[in-house]
Formats: sequence, C-alpha cells, structure tokens
Amino acid sequence: MRVLVVEDEPRLLNNLARALREEGYAVDTAADGADGLGKAEEYDYDAIVLDLLLPRLNGLDVLRRLRALKKTPVLILTAVDGTKDRVRGLDLGADDYLAKPFDLPELLSRLRALIRRAAGTARPVLEAQDVRIDTRSRLVTRAGRDVPLTAREYSILEYLVLHRGEVVTRSTLYMHLFDETSDTLSNLIDVHVFGIRKKLGPDIIATRRGHGYCIEP
Ligand code: CA
Repeated sequence: MRVLVVEDEPRLLNNLARALREEGYAVDTAADGADGLGKAEEYDYDAIVLDLLLPRLNGLDVLRRLRALKKTPVLILTAVDGTKDRVRGLDLGADDYLAKPFDLPELLSRLRALIRRAAGTARPVLEAQDVRIDTRSRLVTRAGRDVPLTAREYSILEYLVLHRGEVVTRSTLYMHLFDETSDTLSNLIDVHVFGIRKKLGPDIIATRRGHGYCIEP
C-alpha cells in the first residue's frame, strides 16, 4: 500500500514516514499543501494523511480540490481544539480524523481501517481459499500453517487479495507498492510473485498473460 503524508513539521513528517515504512507501506511525503495536492493528483494513493495547518495551500483547500477529482481515503490531522476544522474537514469529504498529539498505534490502526473500507472489506483478516492474511500482524497462514513472506511479498499478496476478482497489472502493483524513494525495476514484481507461489503454493495467484495477476474471488 502506498500512502502520502502531508505535514509541514519536519520532525513529525520524518517520524511518520519512518514508522509507516516500518509497517510495510510505501510512503511519499510533502511538506506543504501545494506539493501534497500535486502528488495526490498525480498518483493513486491507497490513503493520505493530511495535516490541516499547512503553508502554500491549507489542508481544507487541498481536500476540497482533491475531492473534485478523487475518492482517495483521507485522514486529517487537526489541532487539539480543532472541532470546527474537524467538522469542516469531514463535511468536505475527509474519511477520518485524529487530533494532535496522537498515538502512533492509533494512527496505524485507523489507516488500516480506511484502506480496508475503501477496498470494500471491514474485517482485518482477509481470506482467499484457505489462505488467511491478518492485516494487523501481517501474518499469513495457509490451512493453519504459518507462511513467512518477505515484506514485499506480503504487500503484493495483501493488495491482490484486497482486490480479488480484479486483474491487477504490474504497473498498478508498482504504483501501489513502491514510493518516490524506491529505486527498483518493475520486473522485480515477477520475482516476488514467484517467491509467494513457492511458499504459498502455485494455485492462489493466477497470471493473466499480458495483463497481470489475479486472485479469484
Ligand atoms: Ca501544520
């Protein structure tokens, strides 16, 4: 999953980006509203964390302009006493909010919920055949047996299961799993899928020649 963090306090921005990468997210960052809006328009993020008090373009304006184009899930960060901002943000189409200062585990939990809901799933445990994916612990089992995947393998599997029934192209996977700091060739996707099949069995992920990958619903 690829997320965008728009936050003008450098320390908070860096800490958030690092924590999210440790959780396996691909993370792009923007330190002002104009840069944030530009990236949000250019890329299809799985979620956006958006501070409201921002230089160049404030968060509510970013949200208003983004919502004219896209449904990307947005979690807004508001000041402690920011009730008015919170209400305006939700009315403008924010999906959730957190008041600063917030606890990191709560932000991570809300972000996971936003991404699941956007994919049409409310439960934190995803299933395909006898494969279970716990998105909280990032643990995968097949028929009750633990299947240890690398971070990239997990991300690919999670994305495909969240979009099961759809053919997901390599470029879509690339867009959602690698961020602006990644320097990786797209053909590595095939190597990771090969790794998943080796550990999980060959029957879960189907290849659609010339199109991409698919997990049957
Ligand atoms: Ca701010």
